[in-house]
Amino acid sequence: MLAIDFVNTLTSEEDRLEEWLSAQGLPWSQEVVVLRGQVEAAILAARDGREPDLAPVNAALRGAPSFEVLTWDDGVVVTRSREGDEVARALATLAGAAAELLASPAVRKVKTCEGPGCRLLFVPAHPRRRWCDPATCGNRVRVARYYQRHKD
Ligand SMILES: [Zn+2]
Repeated sequence: MLAIDFVNTLTSEEDRLEEWLSAQGLPWSQEVVVLRGQVEAAILAARDGREPDLAPVNAALRGAPSFEVLTWDDGVVVTRSREGDEVARALATLAGAAAELLASPAVRKVKTCEGPGCRLLFVPAHPRRRWCDPATCGNRVRVARYYQRHKD
């Protein structure tokens, strides 16, 4: 899910935003960093059933409106394009992904990883899942519990 991936570029250890944006073909800018925090806050509020501050997401969407473009490729093909400069388009694309999640029932299922020191969000495939990644955070918890039990 693009909105979750966007928010998860900030881990408790590092900020992978620049690398992630470049993989998405999007430019880095300070405004994108700010939007990430706003999107995260909105997702967490909506998850908890509180009214999120939607103004920043709406502003980003408005900054580069999208429109349909028709082309001919042995039949009419519809694609979406955006107005605005590169940064405005990036902000609008990321805000669009956030809008999709915020308006979806999936937002109520978003969880924060229970792994020690982990802040990553995920939408669990299984409702009882507690970790962003059972192989890393889940395993870390199991190992910690093991040592706790065997320390005497
Ligand atoms: Zn985790």
